Amino acid sequence: MITSSFIIVAIDGGAASGKSSSARALSERFNLLHVDTGSFYRAITAEMLRRGLRTDDLSGISATIAHVRLTTQVQGRSARMELDGRVAGEEIRGSAVNDAVSHFAAIPEVRQALLAYQRGQAEVARGAGFRGLVMEGRDIGSVIFPDATFRFFLQADPEERARRRASEGQRDPIAERDRLDSTRKTAPLACPPGALAIDTTHLNLAEVVARMVAPITRALEPL
Ligand code: C5P
Repeated sequence: MITSSFIIVAIDGGAASGKSSSARALSERFNLLHVDTGSFYRAITAEMLRRGLRTDDLSGISATIAHVRLTTQVQGRSARMELDGRVAGEEIRGSAVNDAVSHFAAIPEVRQALLAYQRGQAEVARGAGFRGLVMEGRDIGSVIFPDATFRFFLQADPEERARRRASEGQRDPIAERDRLDSTRKTAPLACPPGALAIDTTHLNLAEVVARMVAPITRALEPL
């Protein structure tokens, strides 16, 4: 039974497994702040690329992390990361970031720098009057919020995921990103113990969301 009225929903899974669309739907349905942690890693990566830093330049990366100020802007139902007061633009979805992001995300210093920031999104959600948050990523149910109220793990066949990305008109090496994300030493992508795994290959969005809404609604009923 759920004893706190502030709820945290963790959604993990590989690229194009359906995390963002289902997270947005849950955000609407239960009045949750939507937090896309992939966009955080993307914004950090774009900043490193802008500064001409390579992944082997650990001192440059650490210095950047130490100096850049991370804050959050709530836009509608979503959290946007601000770096030194500026929200990153569309470049975070471009092919340069697609190619580099998993390499930067594998660096322990980068993950460590984002740990407290990601956990702090609960305060952002409270402060903005949300009933909780829905956070999507690769290590949310395992590392960021292992005690999340609800934890889901989405998966889909690689061919189907490649098809989804291509239909969005993106060049994105998702198989390579998944390989890097699931084999890295720090916080690898994996289904956290106790999470509900959903294979979205043959499901439409409404069907995926229904599978998530059911256990949440059941657990919240007494509140
Ligand atoms: O979710 P999205 O595909 O935009 O994430 C981009 C990349 O950010 C992932 O491939 C992964 O390398 C990294 N990431 C991560 N941990 C998270 C979220 C994203 O390592 N929690």
